[in-house]
Amino acid sequence: MNQTFSPLSATASSAPVIERVETVLVDLPTIRPHKLSVATMTGQTLMLVKIYCSDGVTGVGEGTTIGGLAYGGESPEGMKLSIDTYFAPLMIGQDATRVQALMARIGKMVKENRFAKSAVETALLDAQGKRVGLPISELLGGRRRERLPVAWTLASGDTARDIAEAEQMLDLRRHRIFKLKIGAKGLHEDIAHVARIKHALGDRAAVRVDVNMAWSETDAAFGMAALADAGCELVEQPVASTSALGRLVRRFPVALMADESLTGPESAFEIARVHGADVFAVKIEQSGGLFNGQRVAAIADAAGIGLYGGTMLEGAVGTIASAHLFATFANLQWGTELFGPLLLTEEILRTPLDYSDFELTVPTGPGLGIELDDDRVARFARDGLHRTIHPAG
Ligand SMILES: [Mg+2]
Repeated sequence: MNQTFSPLSATASSAPVIERVETVLVDLPTIRPHKLSVATMTGQTLMLVKIYCSDGVTGVGEGTTIGGLAYGGESPEGMKLSIDTYFAPLMIGQDATRVQALMARIGKMVKENRFAKSAVETALLDAQGKRVGLPISELLGGRRRERLPVAWTLASGDTARDIAEAEQMLDLRRHRIFKLKIGAKGLHEDIAHVARIKHALGDRAAVRVDVNMAWSETDAAFGMAALADAGCELVEQPVASTSALGRLVRRFPVALMADESLTGPESAFEIARVHGADVFAVKIEQSGGLFNGQRVAAIADAAGIGLYGGTMLEGAVGTIASAHLFATFANLQWGTELFGPLLLTEEILRTPLDYSDFELTVPTGPGLGIELDDDRVARFARDGLHRTIHPAG
C-alpha cells in the first residue's frame, strides 16, 4: 500500500516521529539602546525551540518580539508557555516529515499565536532539511538568489550619533540602506532629524523611515510630503489603520510600506484589495510561519505590490529562517532588514553569519545551514536550560 498520501497518523507509517520538544529563553544584550516609537530596547530575548525526532535529527526555531509586548500580542515568555503547554502535546508522536500537515493539526487546536507557530514551523523545516540534505530554501521551492541586501536601522535617538553610525557602516561596506525609527518625538523634530541624515549621506545611501503607527492620519499627510522633500524614499507604517494607509498611498512621491497591518495572508489580501500599500514588509513571525510568508508574497506579486524582507529583530535562527524564505521570492524589490544578529553583542553560532559587501549570504547547508553553539546558548539561558518532555503516545 502506498502511504505517501495517507492522512497524518502516528501509527500508520514508519516515518520518524517527534519525540521531544524543548524551549528556552535566551537573554542577550544589544550593542546600544534601540529606540522605537513603541519601546527602547537594551537587550533582546530569543525564545528558541528545539525539536527532537526519532531518527536522531533535531531542528531549531526561534520566536522573538520587539520590546516584549510593545509590538504585538505575543511575548517570548508567552510563546514558551504556549509551546510547552499546548503545542508540544499535539506534536509528540506525530510524523516529523509532514511539516504542513503537522502545522495544520496545530492550527486546528491553537488559534493566533503566529510567532510561536513560526518558531515551531522553522524547527520542523530545519529538521526536515537536515533529514533530506536540502537547505530550507530548496524545501520552499528553490532559491533565486544567494545573497540578500541588508538595511541597517539607525535608532540611537541622537542625530549626530546616527550619522556617525551610518558613516561607519558605509566604511565597513556592511549597509547602504538606512531606516530611521521616528514617531516618538514631535513631527517637526523628526522631519529635521531625517533631513539632516539624508543631507549628510547624500547619494551614497538610501534613507527610509519607520513610524511604527505613531502618527495620526493628519500627521502622516504633512509628514509624508515633508519626508519626500527631504529625500526619504519610503515610509513604513505611518498610521495604524489599513483604511488610513489606503487614503495616504500614492498621494506623495514616496513609497508607503505596510508592516504592523500585515498579519498573514488574510490581511495581505485585504490591504491589496483596498490598494493600501506600495510595499509589503514580509515577516515570518507576523505571517505565522514561512509557508504563510510565501502566501503573503504571492498576494503582493499578484497585486503589483513590492516586497521587502522584514525582521522582528530575531537572532541568528529567526534571521536565517527568514533569509531562506526571502531567497525564494520572485521579487524582492526593496531588499531586507535582516540585521538582527548584528544588534546583539553575543555570538550564539559556531560559525558566524557572513555579512559583507552590503549583503547577507544565505547558508547552503541542509536545513537552516547553521549550528548553534550550545555552550553559549546555555550561558545566556534564563534560569538555566529547561527541558519539557512529553512521553510519546
Ligand atoms: Mg516596521
